[in-house]
Amino acid sequence: MKSFHPPVRTLMGPGPSDVNPRILEALSRPTIGHLDPAFIQMMDEIKQLLQYAFKTENELTMPVSAPGSAGMETVFVNLIERGDKVIICQNGVFGGRMKENVERCGAEAIMVEDPWGSTIDIDKAEQAMSDNLDAKAIAFVHAETSTGACSDVQALCGLAAKYDCLSIVDAVTSLGGIELQVDNWDIDAIYSGTQKCLSCVPGLSPVSFSERAAEEIRQRKTKVQSWFLDLNLVMGYWGRDAKRSYHHTAPVNSLYALHESLLILQEEGLQNAWNRHALNHEALAAGLESLGLKFVVDKEYRLPQLNAVSFPDSVDDVAVRTALLNDYNLEIGSGLGVLAGSVWRIGLMGYASNKKNVLLCISALGNVLATQGMQADVSKAVVAAEAVYSA
Ligand SMILES: *Cc1c(COP(=O)(O)O)cnc(C)c1O
Repeated sequence: MKSFHPPVRTLMGPGPSDVNPRILEALSRPTIGHLDPAFIQMMDEIKQLLQYAFKTENELTMPVSAPGSAGMETVFVNLIERGDKVIICQNGVFGGRMKENVERCGAEAIMVEDPWGSTIDIDKAEQAMSDNLDAKAIAFVHAETSTGACSDVQALCGLAAKYDCLSIVDAVTSLGGIELQVDNWDIDAIYSGTQKCLSCVPGLSPVSFSERAAEEIRQRKTKVQSWFLDLNLVMGYWGRDAKRSYHHTAPVNSLYALHESLLILQEEGLQNAWNRHALNHEALAAGLESLGLKFVVDKEYRLPQLNAVSFPDSVDDVAVRTALLNDYNLEIGSGLGVLAGSVWRIGLMGYASNKKNVLLCISALGNVLATQGMQADVSKAVVAAEAVYSA
């Protein structure tokens, strides 16, 4: 065996996305102790940078030392107790995982299902809330990565306020890519991931809790069943005034990387980052539609950072993705769940959301589709994308 040197790829799938070289450089800086005063000062900066990214003043804001799925689990195991009832709006894969989490907490999940590719239906959600006035929380995914659909967080959190329950939001794919305002939108608990629109390395999950949610956690009747994810304990390490005490060894270098990625986001500015994602999406969409591919999601609910398109039956899904990887070093995502084998998921996340990648994807995909017998005019598609940039 010898050292592992990964091939250089362009990552345009559902995550991880291309990591900014500045972040990789930060990752390789010398490891120091996780209770070193210099490290603790950096942790405080990470909290502030996360508050900026989430647009919140929530004190309980920090990265969980594990990927997005652990952020999801952190939220559910801390807020939900045996016998509670949670309304879950599901319109793709990740809502199904929320159900799993709720049931494993010994609670009841009331499912409100919408077709995959649709946005969450607010009226149906409201009906479920008025039928279940004893529900403790409503949970849903902001940016459904399995389909590319965006849901109306503000409206759903408005329902939570009206029916006096907690709002739980999955923002794994939305943070840094589209507008998200934790305080203004009255979000009680939110979790995200580092490898999507933050373009950081995978393995951390930023979370944030409103004061009301934090109080729920402090007032629990029973212990959180997970020792590692119990925020009452984790706060001894991440808390502001806490005399930092050992809980677990923080992933020191990954946190350097997160600090750098959040700094990059702050330097660009949230609004500029959202605008950049929107523009590159418009250009990619023009090119993909010109190639004859159809979007899964209606225009007004499309996520700019995750473009799910269907292709004709005659096209060989695996052959196309293999050719893109081998001949162009380009990774795009396959379909998940009910959409497996019938769609591709093309990500334009964070650092990977740029004009060069848009044009690479259109020309590479167009050329490969032509070898599959599809009448794809690559130059016309590139011109369509370029026209968006020059408009
Ligand atoms: C990727 C993703 C997750 C899971 O994150 P991991 O880091 O893979 O554990 C959860 N929810 C959504 C919407 C995602 O896109």
